[in-house]
Amino acid sequence: MRVVKKFGGSSVSTIEKIKSIANNIAQNYKEGDEIVIVVSAMGKTTDSLIKLAKEISETPDIRELDSLLSTGEQQTTALLSIALKERGLKAVSLTGAQAGIRTGGIHTKNKIESIKIERIEKSLKDGTIVVVAGFQGINEDGDITTLGRGGSDTSAVALAAALKCECEIYTDVIGIFGVDPRVYKNAKKLDKISYEEMMEMANLGAGVMETRAVEIGKKYGVKIYVGETLGVETGTYICDESEITEKKDVTGISINKNVIMVNLENFVGGPRSIATIFNKLAQNSVNVDMISQNEVLSSKGSIGFTSPLTDEEFLNKSLEDIKKEIPDIKITKKTGVMKISLVGIGMISNFGVAAKVFDVLSYINEEFYQCTTSEISISLIIKEDKGMKVVERLAEVFSI
Ligand code: ASP
Ligand code: MG
Repeated sequence: MRVVKKFGGSSVSTIEKIKSIANNIAQNYKEGDEIVIVVSAMGKTTDSLIKLAKEISETPDIRELDSLLSTGEQQTTALLSIALKERGLKAVSLTGAQAGIRTGGIHTKNKIESIKIERIEKSLKDGTIVVVAGFQGINEDGDITTLGRGGSDTSAVALAAALKCECEIYTDVIGIFGVDPRVYKNAKKLDKISYEEMMEMANLGAGVMETRAVEIGKKYGVKIYVGETLGVETGTYICDESEITEKKDVTGISINKNVIMVNLENFVGGPRSIATIFNKLAQNSVNVDMISQNEVLSSKGSIGFTSPLTDEEFLNKSLEDIKKEIPDIKITKKTGVMKISLVGIGMISNFGVAAKVFDVLSYINEEFYQCTTSEISISLIIKEDKGMKVVERLAEVFSI
């Protein structure tokens, strides 16, 4: 069997854990298996390396930062290979560059462009377990690059795509839950979730797996398994929707507290003012999310949108800029809100989901500030202190 197995930072944070992974691989290895292992840096190594660089410079040179950060993953590959060899297996550690991972883009935020798999294929053919450093590659100048935080998931899925096999992501959770189990204790683990739902949930702030990795999985049809490292329980498969027979109306609910809401009123309505407003936001690099226009038919404009709370500084700057352009504009900001998003591929063909959602709000007697939908999701902005009650009731109603 050919497979790519990825172990995240918390799964390789100590030598004991690395040894346990090697034991497990040794116990299960069968003649003819073709195993590629992708690893992250041990525990919080990447954070520590960034901290070291920042002790020298507030803005470390990004080429050198890439060179530094790549060493974290490289340590783990060598240590795991030593452990595998110690147990009588054939193993080889490879950096991203040695594994043929070519990247493009800017340092610290590279994208994988291509993978030359010859070297890996050759090792697999002679029964060698290949241990590849995640999160890194080499660019056309021959410089070491990294893929952005959490990038090892991307390395693993991209390698599985190139090697035409399944990708297993091992982490410290037992799978993907319909609702974050840390905030809702009755949350259930999903057996399967489609790429689309997973991407929507990750975008909406679920944060189990890197969205880019899921996108690559969808593009190349890589089946992704997410499960607990050395765990006994079966995890969750991220797969094509055609493999999901029971299409639920709502597969998951994600919660995002990193939201600020802005309302703009009392300006001359029409496309020109709206364009001015959003250009000012763009110039200040504010990420805009839910947009809704309220009084489309009146001559006075009124528009609302949300953006990440973490962008507040940039947001304030752009609101000042907007005020300068349109002095009469009335601006209201609202914090203490959260975004609840219900995601499900069943929404494409079934009806009544919105009605059930509004029934829940009516039952709890809670209003929402904004609501947007996509083909497979409904998102609401709710007061944060009432939010969890709404989530719990929705989870019950949709049996998540
Ligand atoms: N070590 C890198 C990080 O901490 C990449 C990864 O773990 O996926 O972001
Ligand atoms: Mg990760």
